Amino acid sequence: MPITEKSIWLSHTGPTFDALTGDLETEIAIIGGGITGVSAAYRLKEKGADFALLERGSIAGGSTGHSMGALVPGIEQEDIWQSIAKCGRARTEFVWRATGEAISQIRNLSTRLGIECDFVPGPAFDVVDRPSNLKFLEREHAAAEDCGVETSILDAKQIRERLAVGDTVVGALKYEKCAQMDPAAFVHGLAKEIHKSTGSIFERTNVDKIKSEKGGFMLETDSGAVRARKVIVATESYTGQLGVLKNRIVALRENALATERLDDDSMKALGMKNALVWNMARDYYFMRTTTDGRVMIDGGGTLSSSQSDAPNPKRIASTYSVLVKLFPSLRGREIEFAWSGRMAVPLRPVPVVNRIIRMLAGVIEVRPSMPLVEQAGSRVISMPFLGACSGNPDMLCSAGYIGHGLPLGFLGGRVMAEMSLGEVTETTDALLRAYSGHG
Ligand SMILES: Cc1cc2nc3c(=O)[nH]c(=O)nc-3n(C[C@H](O)[C@H](O)[C@H](O)COP(=O)(O)OP(=O)(O)OC[C@H]3O[C@@H](n4cnc5c(N)ncnc54)[C@H](O)[C@@H]3O)c2cc1C
Repeated sequence: MPITEKSIWLSHTGPTFDALTGDLETEIAIIGGGITGVSAAYRLKEKGADFALLERGSIAGGSTGHSMGALVPGIEQEDIWQSIAKCGRARTEFVWRATGEAISQIRNLSTRLGIECDFVPGPAFDVVDRPSNLKFLEREHAAAEDCGVETSILDAKQIRERLAVGDTVVGALKYEKCAQMDPAAFVHGLAKEIHKSTGSIFERTNVDKIKSEKGGFMLETDSGAVRARKVIVATESYTGQLGVLKNRIVALRENALATERLDDDSMKALGMKNALVWNMARDYYFMRTTTDGRVMIDGGGTLSSSQSDAPNPKRIASTYSVLVKLFPSLRGREIEFAWSGRMAVPLRPVPVVNRIIRMLAGVIEVRPSMPLVEQAGSRVISMPFLGACSGNPDMLCSAGYIGHGLPLGFLGGRVMAEMSLGEVTETTDALLRAYSGHG
């Protein structure tokens, strides 16, 4: 069976909305049509604001449509115990609650608007295959209990009763209240709903430059100039190319695959239906199933400047071997879809170090699991960005979510929409403080 080299979510979608033709004046311009930009647009539509969203390719064609579609609360940059140690319990509780609520809002919105995006709630399992790692699970479990995040520890026997994992797995931490969906279907559905009443979404419209001018901004696009009083930048791993947060974001490219369909009995035996599974051994790998019976996995990321979302055959082969090592019954299953996608890693403001990292990422494959990079990790990586860019309250940006961008992007989009209207709610304020708490 030939492999389709395209994200499983994007194989059935393409551009839906017209490109911009000619000049346009609007109150708020949103750049980027992933979950962040579309969530901002939806909030502005709810508020009756005047806005236009400009997407250079197609809606959800960036990270969003290349993701695994997993909805997990929290921020990738830190485990619960780290967050408590650095910033205290109250802040950690708040972040988990706010991101958990973002997942509930995605669910409620898709139900209310009738968006068919296969939203399925379910647990997530952090499985470990080194006895020495069990103590990390216990530490995280204790911290989670302390913050009211529902988790439980499973020993080797218990995890094997729940999931058909191989002998190498020695235990797991189970998180409740996670979910999964088809991220492109959700964002497309939302975009259609917005466009129906506002006509303000433009695809195939690249913003080349953002220029400040009297009373606002002028955005140069390939088909006309857009004048706006405020700008929302929702371009995640591409943000630096617009001169925003320059040198503060580096792209981590991950490869992903989806297998052929499994029959109901095989899926049941696997125990993975509706569950998310991740494994930190060496490189980070993430697995889930789809509602039509496939198993998906991504991981083994490398820092990269490549613009192509084509899969890397070598990385797809190593990712597949991780999948069959963890779930031996999948050996021999064919790969039907393979692709790669960019995550945005936010860097602290250390210009020289950042320039070196970005330069190296353009020349060699830098893997986060390399001992030196691992050591440097927490000193170099910052929290996600949210708020005014370069101190200009009229230009807002939310970016740098690494692999947790679906709930964070949904939340970041709403927060930027409210900020652009001058509304700073209690949640917005607490979130701004939580992100800027460290790094
Ligand atoms: C392989 C992979 C798996 C992932 N899995 C998960 C997961 O399971 N769960 C999770 O929460 N997160 C996951 N993530 C991360 C998540 O996908 C992203 O963090 C999230 O989708 C970011 O959304 P966004 O809207 O900010 O960015 P994007 O979806 O990248 O949207 C930005 C958009 O801006 C557009 N754009 C860029 N520059 C311009 C310009 N100059 N003019 C006009 N438009 C422009 C791009 O075309 C793009 O469509 C994964 C990421 C990858 C790569």
